[in-house]
Amino acid sequence: MEIYIATSNKHKIAEFAEMFAKANINCTVLSASDAKDFEPPVEDGTTFEENSFIKANALKQKVPSSAYVMADDSGIVVDALDGAPGIHSARYAGVSGANTDSENNKKLLKELEGVADENRTARFVCAITLLTPNGEKHSFLGKIEGVINHGECGKGGFGYDPLFYLPERNMTTAELSASDKNAISHRGRAFAQLVEFLKNQK
Ligand code: IMP
Repeated sequence: MEIYIATSNKHKIAEFAEMFAKANINCTVLSASDAKDFEPPVEDGTTFEENSFIKANALKQKVPSSAYVMADDSGIVVDALDGAPGIHSARYAGVSGANTDSENNKKLLKELEGVADENRTARFVCAITLLTPNGEKHSFLGKIEGVINHGECGKGGFGYDPLFYLPERNMTTAELSASDKNAISHRGRAFAQLVEFLKNQK
């Protein structure tokens, strides 16, 4: 079984390949870079699910018809900000490059200045879309609930992890080991549903 993943990010491909191997799904993992003439589409959906479908569907047109295609889209949803940054999480502060994560975190802290602890609830959300060889679409949604801290804490992970506090663990997701984070994260939970689905396909 071949699965194309709609990203050219080598780190993400390696992470998913490892997750498939750990889940005993016997497949060849390929990336958007392995597809001929693939151009990343404009992600103009209004939800994580829509944007993951847009990416998967664009790649589906460029790969062998016998292959599966999957795409993920994720971000952080903050209740006190009416769901922002949401689907705009990657470019929340409007910058890209080396400082993206720290600028995004700075902006989030600023937007939440004066917001009391009990109102700083948030969640990471990940949508995965799988397109089967015959074009059936399946969506999987994973979430993890937390609270936005008042400052950064921890060196692991990426993005908003240093601000994302898990009350039941008394630490941020940046303080979790990579395997602990994968086990409970939004991406890990969406991926677990995908694995369940693929296992039942056989
Ligand atoms: P993507 O859809 O996986 O590229 O994620 C979009 C953005 O959401 C990232 O650039 C991060 O800012 C944020 N994000 C998604 N997942 C995580 C996570 O596990 N930890 C921290 N930030 C995340």
